[in-house]
Amino acid sequence: MESVAFPSMKNEQSATTGVDWHAVLGSMWQGIQPALPYLVPLLIFLIILTTPLPGRGPGSRKRDPWRVFKYDARRAVLARAGNRCEAAALVFVLRCPTEAAEADHVYPWSKGGATVISNGQALCRGHNRSKSNLTPPWWYVLLLERRRRNYFPADVSVRVSGAIGAADKATRRAWADRRNRR
Ligand SMILES: [Zn+2]
Repeated sequence: MESVAFPSMKNEQSATTGVDWHAVLGSMWQGIQPALPYLVPLLIFLIILTTPLPGRGPGSRKRDPWRVFKYDARRAVLARAGNRCEAAALVFVLRCPTEAAEADHVYPWSKGGATVISNGQALCRGHNRSKSNLTPPWWYVLLLERRRRNYFPADVSVRVSGAIGAADKATRRAWADRRNRR
């Protein structure tokens, strides 16, 4: 008797406690539906806000064997910024007034950003510490370039690029040669 009653009880149980997913999803959808006219634009806005600038990033996540800006590269990054921090102040239009302390990667080194002058920016100690390790969105890069037009020497490019170019490779070879000759 038991062996017959047991499975039938089990069936009854699953029928009464089983979740009616159709009803749950239906009520969830009904809850979300009124917010959709706001949620969709918000989602699109967030995607646009966090999109990187095409063609400027490192193009690969492979880490540059050169970890930090040193010697001539560090000097060049700091000098073209007039040894002043390049971070934004006040709604990204003005510039941090503090003296620069570090040559920092615009595209983070940990995400494949190369240790090349075109990927460098001068930062004060405070801004260097508070900088996130995220790939900068398009507007961050464009606003940095816009600010740079006001203080970079006329013959220096304001363009940010996280990749190693042919010129960078040649410069590295020349530095290595010079070091070997010493
Ligand atoms: Zn600063």
